Amino acid sequence: MGLLSGLGALGLGNLENATLYETNDSKQKGQAKEKEVPPEVKEADMLFDKTYTCPVCDQEFKAKTIRAGKIRMLGTDMDLRPKYENIDMMKYETIACPHCGYAALSRYFKYMTSMQLNLIRTNICANYHPHPMDGEIYTHEEALERYKLTLANAIVKRAKASEKAYICLKTGWLMRGMTEALDQKAPEYAAKKDAYERMEKEYLKNALEGFLAARQTEGFPMCGMDEITMDYLIAILAMECEQYDLSLKVLSTVITSKGVNGRVKERALDARDMLREKMKAQRVEK
Ligand SMILES: [Zn+2]
Repeated sequence: MGLLSGLGALGLGNLENATLYETNDSKQKGQAKEKEVPPEVKEADMLFDKTYTCPVCDQEFKAKTIRAGKIRMLGTDMDLRPKYENIDMMKYETIACPHCGYAALSRYFKYMTSMQLNLIRTNICANYHPHPMDGEIYTHEEALERYKLTLANAIVKRAKASEKAYICLKTGWLMRGMTEALDQKAPEYAAKKDAYERMEKEYLKNALEGFLAARQTEGFPMCGMDEITMDYLIAILAMECEQYDLSLKVLSTVITSKGVNGRVKERALDARDMLREKMKAQRVEK
């Protein structure tokens, strides 16, 4: 399945096969730990409707937004995906205008050049079929549709590689949350898990490619990350994409760099141990 498949339903079928990068060589609620009757905070209670004014069509709309004070962080996955109790934050990281189809991650929502504005108007707004999402929460499927729309907008407006990579990273994380939220007893569990994991990998692979390109051409901070954190992330993504040699090389850079803080260094050392195990296993297989 393509990164953007399904956009046809929004009138944007012609973008389903759009190229992500113009290259030179051209896990939700599943945290559901079985605790004894915790004071249940429902997902809807952790959200509010935030009003935005669309910078493309100038109309107002509301988007579900997380109430910062209502959520509790449980930790992060190795690749820095944050995990919260009873809510998958990744579902709420895109802002999409329901009137014209403009969508972006919140950090990029307000900013665009006049050329980008025209590109979005011509290639998104002109074809977009409004698609209401008026439930109390966003489902994973709705969130995935919003990410695909966000990625299509980024491609159309010729966003920097880092922005497109960041969207792919978060979409990959959304797929992981989708897998975690699956009902393990359902008959279609194995098939869905397999399909979602393959999609996660595909998005992470594209995130890695974009961050590597951005690393060569863009400055720091990048997507809110400093250089060492970005290198750590690249190394972990490379491990997840089974590019072990690249991963090892970048991890070594992180571990030996002067400015590295203790926590990142510790994570990188753990990752290197895990990576060596994987490399050993791979050699045995061959
Ligand atoms: Zn709009």
